[in-house]
Amino acid sequence: MELEKLIRSNIKNLKPYSSARDEYSGEAMVFLDANENPFNAPYNRYPDPLQRKLKDKIAAVKKCRADQIFLGNGSDEPIDLVFRAFCEPGVDNMVSIDPTYGMYQVAADINHIEVRKVSLNPDFNFSACDLLNKADEHTKLIFICSPNNPTGNLMDQAEILKLVNEFQGLVVLDEAYTDFAPGTTLLPELEEYPNLIILQTFSKAWGMAGIRLGMAFAQPEIIRIFNKIKYPYNINLLTQQKALELVEKEADKAQWVELLIKERGNLAKALEKFPFVVKIYPSDANFLLVKMHDARGIYDRLVQEGIIVRDRSKVILCADSLRITVGSPGENEVLLKTLNDLI
Ligand code: PMP
Repeated sequence: MELEKLIRSNIKNLKPYSSARDEYSGEAMVFLDANENPFNAPYNRYPDPLQRKLKDKIAAVKKCRADQIFLGNGSDEPIDLVFRAFCEPGVDNMVSIDPTYGMYQVAADINHIEVRKVSLNPDFNFSACDLLNKADEHTKLIFICSPNNPTGNLMDQAEILKLVNEFQGLVVLDEAYTDFAPGTTLLPELEEYPNLIILQTFSKAWGMAGIRLGMAFAQPEIIRIFNKIKYPYNINLLTQQKALELVEKEADKAQWVELLIKERGNLAKALEKFPFVVKIYPSDANFLLVKMHDARGIYDRLVQEGIIVRDRSKVILCADSLRITVGSPGENEVLLKTLNDLI
């Protein structure tokens, strides 16, 4: 893979905006460089555009280097940036498994990039050859999500690595749910795969969806391209402060994950017993995909009782299926009791 050939020429030639805080980032006594208001500290100051302190902490937690990390306004930001950096609108394309997380398609559409979908096998896995066969000289990206949303399963790691090894473009591997499948992340091997971009998020296992913080891990050359095109202050001060504080609570996160994995098993066992449940797909994530008789009818009845799940019935390979997030033990109990009343 040659990064120079993958990057769009306008991005390669771009002279990025240089903010006041880019030009001077050390300690000083008086800052009169950014037209800030001197009052109302600390909110009066622009935040660190490169989030250095936070990246140092995340690097320690994730056991990688800070220069391999890009932080975005949720994973949604790096999902958009890969298209803007590497795909020429109306010319280039990306290949993706199907079904998968809907934002890849939306970001591709916004950027006027064709999406070439390859249906998963009935067992919800894929063959690298099928995806590679869909690619042509204009395919810049392949998107894989593992564990996949909405199917919930991990993708076969040998097939992912075959893609990474054989594809001449970039492989974007979305690991948003990786914490719920302990020990399966490819992050420790990032160094060996220069064309791999791994996405993770603070929205799931870390319980911080509200502060909007997503991560992309890749070789520094790719991270530098993202930094060049992002909004100058894409991660606001409040998010940086809160994340610095919450990243310390890795023990809490580990406890939540352990409990949610246990609850996932309990919920699956309990759901199995309902006469309208046809199949519970194995899950490596914090949700269950459940095939039911009259999924839409059950969805509507749950809504009436104030319980919201996701109807995935119209999604390919997911006919008559609801996607149910694993909640707290109390929330799961309310769900089961309500379903019981429907029998
Ligand atoms: N990736 C996947 C596979 C997801 O399911 C989701 C959330 N639905 C995200 C990313 C979004 O993550 P974030 O909140 O970091 O934008």
